[in-house]
Amino acid sequence: VVRSRLAPSPTGHLHLGNARTFLLTWLHVRAAGGSLVLRVDDLDGPRVRQEAVGETIEDLTWLGLHWDAEAGVLVQSRRAEVYAEAADGLLSRGLAYPCVCTRSEIGIAVGDTASSAPHGPEGPRYPGTCRGRWSTRAQAEAASGKPACLRLKTEPGQVRFDDLLYGPQAFDPSMETGDFVIHRNNGVAAYQLATVIDDAESGVDLVIRGSDLLSSTARQRLLQTALGLPMPQVLHVPLVVGEDGRRLAKRHGDTSIRRLRELGWSAAALLARLGATAGLCGPEEEVTLGVLLARYDLARLSTAPVVFTPAWLARRPA
Ligand code: GLU
Repeated sequence: VVRSRLAPSPTGHLHLGNARTFLLTWLHVRAAGGSLVLRVDDLDGPRVRQEAVGETIEDLTWLGLHWDAEAGVLVQSRRAEVYAEAADGLLSRGLAYPCVCTRSEIGIAVGDTASSAPHGPEGPRYPGTCRGRWSTRAQAEAASGKPACLRLKTEPGQVRFDDLLYGPQAFDPSMETGDFVIHRNNGVAAYQLATVIDDAESGVDLVIRGSDLLSSTARQRLLQTALGLPMPQVLHVPLVVGEDGRRLAKRHGDTSIRRLRELGWSAAALLARLGATAGLCGPEEEVTLGVLLARYDLARLSTAPVVFTPAWLARRPA
């Protein structure tokens, strides 16, 4: 049986974009008779708002997207020791190393003069400056006078995997991000490390999430290999974007579930707006999750980005 997770980041309100990902997660897992864990991805320091945890849970519940209590709830900010122990283990086995480079030093090292430099949201590729310099964090910090993060060593080579929607994938993390951060210099685990440990701990065998994380899967595979963890299957779903092609955000207007509910939208009407983007119903209907579930079919999903237009919300059912 399938076990997956809902992993909201409590950095803002649940909006139509992340609600679509969670709806598809819920439908896919329920259609397979599987179970769902709730995981709170609250490691992103200053961007996390603790109130958003409760609000997101309320919004998911209002939409009817329930997880399974028996499967448990994982709150990442409470699991610092587990992550630290795994990171230290990789360091002592020589698979990771301490690094004291600052963001701007890395930019200079790769000749990144302006924001036009070719690099993704992860920033420039790390050139490996600190590789082989020190064997412990304490040594690195004493020698440099700066806090050290830990990076996983990446060796050249394609990491291949099959995505249930996007098909066969190949990424070379050593070319894309280079040795990547697994534990930050403020002592907090990086997303890549926390997510693989938690997926294993909660028995997740299918990861469903937004397509912005497709290339992360390759880095997560490297970590799973290094830590001896199982490799879940992956299903990435396209993000909802605005008419400008950018990921749905405030600039496209307030599409938070909370706000729409205050405006009088019913869950059934919003589910129809989202279900229509997966070919499951007409956008102007009102549907229950049961109806969407009965019609759900992965084969109807497309990899094309889903474009939000104000027309989605132009006609609110009375
Ligand atoms: N918390 C992440 C997000 O909201 C999802 C991470 C994951 O599914 O691995 O985009």
